[in-house]
Amino acid sequence: MMFCPNCGSLMQPVAPSRFKCSSCGYESSSSGGGRVVLGQRIKHKEREKIIVIDDTKRTSNPIVKDVRCPSCGWNEAEYWIMQTRRADEPPTRFYRCTKCGKVWREYE
Ligand SMILES: [Zn+2]
Ligand SMILES: [Zn+2]
Repeated sequence: MMFCPNCGSLMQPVAPSRFKCSSCGYESSSSGGGRVVLGQRIKHKEREKIIVIDDTKRTSNPIVKDVRCPSCGWNEAEYWIMQTRRADEPPTRFYRCTKCGKVWREYE
């Protein structure tokens, strides 16, 4: 077994006594006169910037019309989804009444 000196991934044999890293593309020969073939270093793409959603501006939230406000009985509310508990549990859907502003939540 060989491990990539660049990134530490397990290298796969691609030819007799030649190994290539499937993660970064580094290539080397394990024997054959000690000749080492350097693979191209593949630049990792920069991660796209994460768009931060400002949770205080809720005017752009989608609106559902099949709900019932527990406060005033209105049937239209904005909703958004938040992971409020452990990651292995389903996220919670929150509603806000477009009429009276009441916020409530519903488990999916
Ligand atoms: Zn590698
Ligand atoms: Zn309401």
